Amino acid sequence: MICSKCGAVIDDQSRFCDLCGAPAGVQDNTQPVNVVCPEQGKIIEEKKPPFSGFCITGFVLPFLWLGFIGLPLSILGIVDCNKNDKRGKGLGIAGLILNILNILGYIIVAVFLYFFMLGLRPS
Ligand SMILES: [Zn+2]
Repeated sequence: MICSKCGAVIDDQSRFCDLCGAPAGVQDNTQPVNVVCPEQGKIIEEKKPPFSGFCITGFVLPFLWLGFIGLPLSILGIVDCNKNDKRGKGLGIAGLILNILNILGYIIVAVFLYFFMLGLRPS
């Protein structure tokens, strides 16, 4: 047969062209076209759904000690993921936990400051 790429004569038994390395003859069809997720058996589409911005923002805010803003954003993010089939639900749940911890941190600091101020008060 003749190489479709460079035109060199290829042995009928060989799968690739000796000259340019192009696959000989008909293209190999054994390679799967779609990637199938083994767990769900669904065909993963090329275009993935977008990440929920609420989840990302809600995850970042507790690191800036903005848990009071981050908490409702994380909740909105999880709802956003469920309703609009967006990605980042795990991030939203992680953000939810971090925001709650952040708010607890505020309470601990507030209690600490309260007793600190009490200690500073002249008797
Ligand atoms: Zn060739």
